[in-house]
Order: sequence, then structure tokens, then C-alpha cells
Amino acid sequence: MPLAREAVELLVQAARAWYFEGDQHGLRDREWMALRFLGRANRFSRTPSALAGYIGATRATASQIVKTLESKGYLVRKPSHEDKRSVALHVTPQGQKCLSQQDPINHVVNAVSSLGDEECARLRDSLREILNHLDAAHQRLDASICRDCMFLAERSPSAVKGRATAEFMCRLYRAPVSLEETELLCISFERTRDRPKIEEHLDRARVASQG
Ligand code: SF4
Repeated sequence: MPLAREAVELLVQAARAWYFEGDQHGLRDREWMALRFLGRANRFSRTPSALAGYIGATRATASQIVKTLESKGYLVRKPSHEDKRSVALHVTPQGQKCLSQQDPINHVVNAVSSLGDEECARLRDSLREILNHLDAAHQRLDASICRDCMFLAERSPSAVKGRATAEFMCRLYRAPVSLEETELLCISFERTRDRPKIEEHLDRARVASQG
């Protein structure tokens, strides 16, 4: 147990990078969290209500954060393709630039990258396992990437008809999902441990992009 406590205490120290008083580069920690989420969210999750759920805020607080990000030119609202009654929140190129250059978690990402791919994958898997335990204990699920979701299914080759950009299907939203979209965050995510075929697809795509 002392080892476990020591590890958690180190995690708490790391968390100071993303929970802080005041602001960094003009944004408070929750505003950074919102911008970061919207920069990585899939098309079903770029909504004001999904944002409120993800950052653990009321709709009113999330709406105020959206206004702040809009006023800085980091975010725009557009009519949603998925639900005509709703709006979709899009991170602007300026917002993406801000994330890539000034996000307070960037130096943590760099430090983790410096561990190397194998150690990085081990750390990711350990953290995922810890979150699985926490989810089970608290009956709560956070957003996570589509490729680990139980609702993701492969489309049959006849349904794809040569459209390599929509190889999967979301059984919850009944909508096609492209290979690239399987790496994005979704607020409706439900965890599964049984996704070997999709890991193979991603590995093939990674090898192809490196070659
Ligand atoms: S498969 Fe899961 S994570 Fe992906 S869009 Fe559907 S509900 Fe969201």
C-alpha cells in the first residue's frame, strides 16, 4: 500500500499542471479543460450539454465558458448536422494553435513522451485500468475514445462500398464512424475490453502512415 500511496501522491503533484488558481495564458483551468475537450471531441460530443457533462459544470457555467472562448476567437457555434435543434461547438484554427502552443498540460505530455513508446503504452494501460476500477466503484463513466467503446461495430464490406473513411458504425447513434473518428473523445462512450479487430485496423493505418 505505501507504494500505491506514493504513486497516487505523485499523480496529485502532476495534477497541479491542469488544476491551478487564476489563469494561464488568459484562460482558467476549467476553460482550458473545455477547449481541450472540444479540440478532441467527436461530432456527437461537441455540444453545450456534452461539454457541461464532461467538465462537471452546470449548463449555465458551461455556457459562460463557451462565451469566454468565443470572445477570444477560440470557438465558434455552428448549426449541428446531427441534431437540427442544437448547435455544434467548433474549435477555430486560432483555438487549435493556442492548444498546441500554450496548453498547460503540454509539458506533461512532453515529459510522458520522453519515456518512450513502450513505457508510455504501459502508463496509459495502467491509468486506463485504474479508471476502470474507479468507474466500477462510482458507477460513473467519463468520455473516452471511440475505438474502445462497446457500441462501435465494423461495417460489412458491402456497406462500405469503397468509402475507406467510414469503416465503422456507431450502434448507439446509428451513424457511420470513420477510422480517424475512432481516436476522438465521445461523451456517450461505454467501455469494452473486447476490441481486437479495431486495434488491428489502427495498427495497419499507423504502419501505412509511417511508410
Ligand atoms: S461508438 Fe461509442 S464512443 Fe463511438 S460515437 Fe458511438 S457511443 Fe460514441
